[in-house]
Amino acid sequence: MPPSKKPSLKVLLSLYLKEKYPSFINGGELEQFAVTQGHKASTGSRRCRELADEGTLERRMNGKSVEYRDKEKGSQPERNPANYRCCRCSKDAIVFRDSRPVCQKHLDLAGLVGGIMNLRDSNNNTLLLT
Ligand SMILES: [Zn+2]
Repeated sequence: MPPSKKPSLKVLLSLYLKEKYPSFINGGELEQFAVTQGHKASTGSRRCRELADEGTLERRMNGKSVEYRDKEKGSQPERNPANYRCCRCSKDAIVFRDSRPVCQKHLDLAGLVGGIMNLRDSNNNTLLLT
């Protein structure tokens, strides 16, 4: 068989998952995808494991099956307060205040002191107080 000019299965899998981001895709569906690309299902799941080990894909278990998704590189999730703990306690932060993550309780306390009342805009989005 002549060498294929097609991109490698790993490249195809990561492109496929980029397209599906932010959804997690079941390993079985990725095996099916590998089959449609002319590979064995087992090769598909092996390539997924390799990509996850390399840090290209995110892997999680859903019951007994494994799911993968692309690790989004271009985004800046660090500016999402939901990814942080409050700087004053261990609760999940809901907002940034003076560039520091703050939970609802400590935000309320700060609000009482600072007179900040309207923390949500008309679309009910949490405002970033930076
Ligand atoms: Zn707190």
